[in-house]
Parts: sequence; structure tokens; C-alpha cells
Amino acid sequence: MHIGVLAVQGSFSLHVSMFKSIGVEPVMVRRSTDLKRLDGIVIPGGESTAFQIIMNCDDLGANLLNAIRAGMPAWGTCAGAIILGKGLGNPQPRWELIDVEVVRNAYGRQVDSFVTSLNINGFDKDFDGVFIRAPLFQNAGKDVKILSLYNNTPVMVKQDNILLTSFHPELTSDFRVHKLFLDELVSK
Ligand code: GLN
Repeated sequence: MHIGVLAVQGSFSLHVSMFKSIGVEPVMVRRSTDLKRLDGIVIPGGESTAFQIIMNCDDLGANLLNAIRAGMPAWGTCAGAIILGKGLGNPQPRWELIDVEVVRNAYGRQVDSFVTSLNINGFDKDFDGVFIRAPLFQNAGKDVKILSLYNNTPVMVKQDNILLTSFHPELTSDFRVHKLFLDELVSK
């Protein structure tokens, strides 16, 4: 299985370690040629405005968007979710690959970061949700499956080949969301 992790900025190395710990050797994606033969991709947390600028420097952004549009499974964590979803405000354009509005920095600034226990659909025990300048998911369309809520607001959603988490599973030692991505989106 060939899983890519966008590795231009942000929290990519922890996703890489997480996949290694469950027996998958990921590809660090830095240019378009790295997209060849991928079965899925993670767009990590970081700075969504920086991702857009870096990906627009060559054709990486356009090629990645086309590959996901064509069906490649993609998981956006925090900043990655901002890129994949819909919404106004920076960065623009959003890729609108899932019918959810993603409001950047809606949970406050870095000092407002928090960890909370999340109940995730299908998990037998709660998951530690790490929120860092996290985006808010709102106005999810009817085809969007809500996998977890925090204060009655979606924090983990899925539609077809797209998974979004507003929190950071790679900052824990719990690989269940990584496994869910592989099992339910990549090898379904
Ligand atoms: N607030 C950041 C952004 O706008 C995302 C923060 C994160 O990924 N932890 O891109």
C-alpha cells in the first residue's frame, strides 16, 4: 500500500511515524512525481495558507487536487481539512472536495489549544482529541457522515473518499484514526 503524506510544511513527520508504527511505509510528497502510484494521501496540520503558497509554486497543488477529484482517498488534519473543504476567507481557493464549510482558527489561538476526550463512531474507547488553532466544521451536507462531535459540533467527518479531522491524531500514540483511514477509505 502506498500512502503519501504531504511533506511541504507542518506536522508531516509524526504522520509518517504513525503509519510506520502500523506497518505502512509512507511516501513524503514534495513534488508532483511523488504522487505516482499513491493509494491515498494525508494533508497534515500546519499552516493552510503556507500549503497553498508552496503547492502553487509548481504544479503539485493542481496535480494533487486532480488526483483526489479522480477518487484518491484523502485525509485532511486541521490545516489539511481547511484545504480540502469549502469556505470563505484565507486561504483561497478551497478545494471543495467535501460538502462541509471549514472555518479557520474558530477554536481560538495557539494559547487556547486543548485536549478533550472524543467519542468516535465505531471506536470502543474514547480518543484524545488534540485541538490546536483548530477549524470549525459547519453546514455539513446530507451526504456527509459525522463520525465525532465535540460540544454538538462535528470534529470528524467523512464523505466518499474524503476524511477530515479538526484535531491531530498524529500528536497522540493512538493509531486508530490512521487505521480507520486505511481500512475504511483506502482499502475499502
Ligand atoms: N490554524 C491553522 C491554519 O489556519 C491550522 C492549525 C493546525 O493545523 N493545527 O492553517
